[in-house]
Amino acid sequence: MTRPATDAESAPSAAPAPVHHQILIVGGGTAGITVAARLRRAGLRDIALLEPAETHWYQPLWTLVGGGQAPLRAALRPEAEVIPPGVRWLRERATAVDPVARTVSTATGRVFSYGRLVLAPGLSLDWDGVPGLASAVGHDGVSSNYRADLAPYTWELIRRMRSGTAVFTMPSGPVKCGGAPQKIAYLAADHWRKRGVLGNIRTILALPEPTLFKVPVFARALEQTARRYGIEVRLQTELTRLDGPERAAVLTDHATGRAETVHYDLLHAVPPQRAPRWLAGGPLADPGSPHGYVKTDPHTLQNPDFPEVFALGDVAHLPTSKTGAAVRKQAPVLVTNLLAGLRGRPATARYDGYTSCPLVTARHKMLLAEFDYDLRPAPSFPFLDTTRERTDMWFLKRYGLPQLYFQGMLKGRA
Ligand SMILES: Cc1cc2nc3c(=O)[nH]c(=O)nc-3n(C[C@H](O)[C@H](O)[C@H](O)COP(=O)(O)OP(=O)(O)OC[C@H]3O[C@@H](n4cnc5c(N)ncnc54)[C@H](O)[C@@H]3O)c2cc1C
Repeated sequence: MTRPATDAESAPSAAPAPVHHQILIVGGGTAGITVAARLRRAGLRDIALLEPAETHWYQPLWTLVGGGQAPLRAALRPEAEVIPPGVRWLRERATAVDPVARTVSTATGRVFSYGRLVLAPGLSLDWDGVPGLASAVGHDGVSSNYRADLAPYTWELIRRMRSGTAVFTMPSGPVKCGGAPQKIAYLAADHWRKRGVLGNIRTILALPEPTLFKVPVFARALEQTARRYGIEVRLQTELTRLDGPERAAVLTDHATGRAETVHYDLLHAVPPQRAPRWLAGGPLADPGSPHGYVKTDPHTLQNPDFPEVFALGDVAHLPTSKTGAAVRKQAPVLVTNLLAGLRGRPATARYDGYTSCPLVTARHKMLLAEFDYDLRPAPSFPFLDTTRERTDMWFLKRYGLPQLYFQGMLKGRA
């Protein structure tokens, strides 16, 4: 006589029950680690973090690597070193969220359920967004500081150049650190000036916006910087096509519709950027974001439709610049509101849109632009005039901020 099958036996293909965590964080970059550290400090015990990468990057240093001012190794740590003790590291890539079932699926087919979800997987670089860019980048004079492995190549190109045409471009749409596409142009020009070859090099800076920077006082300062180096600034202009073998870049002026082909010896290109595809097409994407970023209340950092979901950093659809500095101010707000929810209280902490852009303008010079959602100045050093190029600010960027990042922010202390 055969015994009756149990439920488990009669449904051999049924998926195993999701593994549950009180807090599930997707992404162990700047935002994910900062939030995890703060939640641990607040005493939460059941925190899991999905992150497939073995290396954690401090991306702001990539600009200085490309400008020959820092070694690449200064910008990285093994991921295992930055994950706060007590946080469970799931070395997996998230591939889908079901906010109704409160689950996240991964590339290996596992499913995790959550009490609260923090989305921090950053953004995607769309190298195919400009025809010809994907195949051209990384050789024959084309580089990008937006890839860690290519930042040293940027410096090699700058260092070797003695004459010819250098082109620096920025795509339209939100990008991480909106200042980075032009900072590298200033660092390159300053290096050529020091070498005495600046006069032999035609430098073109093509930016999609109508001004060099959206805060007027910094736009004026940057205009002076560009003038000092003799840089040809093309506003409302972007790279729309690239022919790597021919070393030809098509720059399209959106104001006039005119497309010009420029033959370059060096091209620093920044790819268009968008939300990761698995989120852009899903129920958490903001219909108001053409790039698929996650719908996020600009002040509480909570998803308005699914209050147990929070987002911060580059993936969040917020009307401010995407920077690590913004994450530093977002994380404490998000954590306060998440903890309030766990205690049945309303989300009252508010993020004001603070962001900051350290605008490196020369080998040892920098402006520090800090502002909020209304583009009002939000200076961290109100006693210093950071709208002028300053040497102390450059030292802050090169040495102070990486310390603050690795020892303060990632440990939930700053
Ligand atoms: C060249 C350059 C210069 C910059 N300069 C500055 C600057 O001067 N100042 C400043 O404040 N900011 C600067 N930034 C921007 C800053 O680095 C980012 O805004 C910041 O890192 C955003 O943090 P994040 O956690 O949202 O994303 P990230 O730090 O990019 O982290 C995202 C993490 O999610 C992981 N991930 C991705 N997909 C998945 C998935 N499906 N599942 C699980 N994990 C996933 C990734 O591996 C990564 O570890 C710069 C950036 C660049 C590229």
